[in-house]
Amino acid sequence: MTDADELRRRTRELLAAYPPAETERLDFLRARFDAGLAWVHFPEGLGGLGLPRSLQAVVDTELEAAGAPDNDPRRIGIGLGMAAPTILQYGTDEQKARFLKPLWTGEEVWCQLFSEPGAGSDLAALGTRAVREGDDWVVNGQKVWTSSAHLARWAILIARTDPDVPKHRGITYFVCDMTDPGVEVRPLRQITGEAEFNEVFLTGVRIPDSRRLGEVGDGWRVAQTTLNNERVAIGGMRLPREGGMIGPVAKTWRERPELRTHDLHQRLLKLWVEAEVARLTGERLRQQLVAGQPGPEGAGMKLAFARLNQEISGLEVELRGGEGLLYDDWTMRRPELVDFTGRDAGYRYLRSKGNSIEGGTSEVLLNIVAERVLGLPAEPRTDKDVAWKDLAR
Ligand SMILES: Cc1cc2nc3c(=O)[nH]c(=O)nc-3n(C[C@H](O)[C@H](O)[C@H](O)COP(=O)(O)OP(=O)(O)OC[C@H]3O[C@@H](n4cnc5c(N)ncnc54)[C@H](O)[C@@H]3O)c2cc1C
Repeated sequence: MTDADELRRRTRELLAAYPPAETERLDFLRARFDAGLAWVHFPEGLGGLGLPRSLQAVVDTELEAAGAPDNDPRRIGIGLGMAAPTILQYGTDEQKARFLKPLWTGEEVWCQLFSEPGAGSDLAALGTRAVREGDDWVVNGQKVWTSSAHLARWAILIARTDPDVPKHRGITYFVCDMTDPGVEVRPLRQITGEAEFNEVFLTGVRIPDSRRLGEVGDGWRVAQTTLNNERVAIGGMRLPREGGMIGPVAKTWRERPELRTHDLHQRLLKLWVEAEVARLTGERLRQQLVAGQPGPEGAGMKLAFARLNQEISGLEVELRGGEGLLYDDWTMRRPELVDFTGRDAGYRYLRSKGNSIEGGTSEVLLNIVAERVLGLPAEPRTDKDVAWKDLAR
């Protein structure tokens, strides 16, 4: 029996034991995790079976056909796409056992406390301090642009534990409990009118040392796992043909012949082909991932995703003319997820502006591709050997 046959058998066994129509959603998801069918490439006992990642499609197809509930991956993207692979790689056995199951089922939402007012592209310059006191670390500082902090139970956090060494070396990686005293979450309103992200103030927050991920001072290396996975998570989603932003504009083109012009037709065709090439490149990237951890190649996918989303949504606004300028809702909502295709053209146009900033700006990703994929000379870095405390801020 092949691995795929065995997976199909296990999935049917799960469906027989927990018929989706008669089972509570959460009970089904927990049982699926326990059966190793959550993410098959994870180890046994942690929601997986240690099989190649590509075999996940066998499980997903069976479950979808049976009408089984999913874990709403768009709502828990930071947990699934960034926290989980980092915990898997650097977490202790206790941390993996505590965090991964409720993360995957969506019972516990995660956010990412990385960016600061003075540290975005130059993330290693961050100034949030964590000072050891007995078995705890006491954390003080400010984070910003924290998506989903208002929904999150846990955060992945990087903080400075040693200001006397160069900036990349004095950082440590923690898991922060967002319900702890001293964690204050304030909404930040975006160009869309919504507050999907936040600023987060950390004042005397006590984090037990048992919630450190990786070694003290090794947080920059741990963060690379998160950031490489983030780019793949943002830019490399699995999509059917016309599954991304190109879908709504192609639909409008087909259904509204009165809007068509020759010029827009040429541009639509060009973008349609580019969107399809990006989608297929994403497939190839996922196949490469089967062989190992994501490397800097994810930066290229994320770059293409940002540019295409902005160009396609711009074309859609033009195609719709005056109606494209209408915007459904300016009230400050606190959305649970970013929904590119379920909203109107104005939302897509405004929200996609953030795509070339979040997860690393396009300029910074171009630098990564130039240096780490193409092997071009690195940018001059004069602060590499200077202690963080002596850097100009
Ligand atoms: C929608 C959205 C969601 C986000 N969610 C999160 C989150 O959940 N958690 C989190 O920690 N962060 C989050 N961020 C923050 C994001 O990672 C940062 O905004 C981003 O890394 C850029 O940092 P910055 O805003 O400080 O800009 P800066 O780093 O100050 O950049 C300003 C400009 O300078 C350019 N620039 C900077 N350095 C270079 C260079 N070396 N070469 C060429 N150009 C350069 C940049 O490209 C940019 O145009 C989010 C951002 C957005 C827009």
